[in-house]
Amino acid sequence: MKTISKKSFQTRAVHAGERVPPADFTPVTTPIWTTVGYLYESMDDLDAVFDGNKRGQVYLRYSNPTVEAFENAIADLEVADAAQAYSSGMAAIHAALLAVGVKAGTAVVAALDVYGATFSLLNSLFKSMDVTLRMVDVTNHDEVESALKETHAVVLYAESISNPLLKVADIPALAELAHRYSASLLVDNTFASPYLFNPIAHRADMSIHSATKYISGHGDTLAGVVATSNENKKKLFELNKLVGSVLGPFESWLALRGLKTLPLRMKQHCQNAQQVAGWLAKHSRVAKVNYPGLVEHPQHALADKLFGGRYGGMLSFEIKGAGKAEVYRFMEALNVCLPATTLGDVYSLVLHPATSSHRSLTAEQRAQVGISDGLVRLSAGIEAVEDILSDLEGALKV
Ligand code: PLP
Repeated sequence: MKTISKKSFQTRAVHAGERVPPADFTPVTTPIWTTVGYLYESMDDLDAVFDGNKRGQVYLRYSNPTVEAFENAIADLEVADAAQAYSSGMAAIHAALLAVGVKAGTAVVAALDVYGATFSLLNSLFKSMDVTLRMVDVTNHDEVESALKETHAVVLYAESISNPLLKVADIPALAELAHRYSASLLVDNTFASPYLFNPIAHRADMSIHSATKYISGHGDTLAGVVATSNENKKKLFELNKLVGSVLGPFESWLALRGLKTLPLRMKQHCQNAQQVAGWLAKHSRVAKVNYPGLVEHPQHALADKLFGGRYGGMLSFEIKGAGKAEVYRFMEALNVCLPATTLGDVYSLVLHPATSSHRSLTAEQRAQVGISDGLVRLSAGIEAVEDILSDLEGALKV
């Protein structure tokens, strides 16, 4: 450490007490490392770190010990070689698509019912950059195969559990199809979370999360992450060094802390959602419930097989004869379930997909996907289920 003890008060005020090398202790929990830069024994040392020949840090846009701790935790829980963290789920999706070779003149085959911003990213931004987009029902494997064959797509993109219709994708079968046609399979695993499902273990090439949701879990941070192979991690890392959509140390720390209770929260989310879905399915004002845990769900058996008898905390339902106005009155009458534009938090949350998550779609596009104006999405929180049910009961009377 360079000494500054003999310098002026002004200089000491800037430097005093700083840059004590890591001591001989290991903190139990990863601290928030907020430094942008680092000091080295010599410039040759820095050179070696830059080259990857010596372990170390270079610059906050490249890496950071707190961010790395979060990435390593995700890689572990997703049974992947590595992970790369992002400033949001959308940044993660964008980077993943670029890293596997989506560029002008290429094609993407994507599930029709994906999160609204993902739909718009593909349908507006990438299409405007001369990327061909074919949207398919990923539960129809003949349709997927024809699309892959006809477009020579570089990517097949799907959500393991879709937003907001809760369709379950057969990821092992889609991986086989994608690889047969030399495409990469990218899976948005946000709704399932690593607790329910590990796409990489089923031969997907990347598992993407909006870590804003179940992974962080408390509605207080925006984050994204991609779990993948070492080879793909290198591509994502090099890309992010240039683009810089990195996750900050504080957000990484929040996400890492969220992970610790993921299994406990998910257990309660799953239990509550199962009970709420069963209750709604019997309610006279409810026309339809989408939840993979219900035996009448078209992919119930598949969900059973892939998720091991747990079906997640998300569900959606249609209120009989309701349009936007009736759904809005229902949402305003709720007290425990909060109308909020997010999901996966400890709080129960409701959302009107037609005017929120899928607002960027035209009415025709929503109709094509199957999102009606009477559809409500519910993210079951970890509250006592009887309080959620009585809240829903009260609001359905309005
Ligand atoms: N994927 C899914 C399934 C989502 O629901 C969302 C956001 O709601 C995203 C991705 C985008 O994540 P973020 O808001 O963190 O950018």
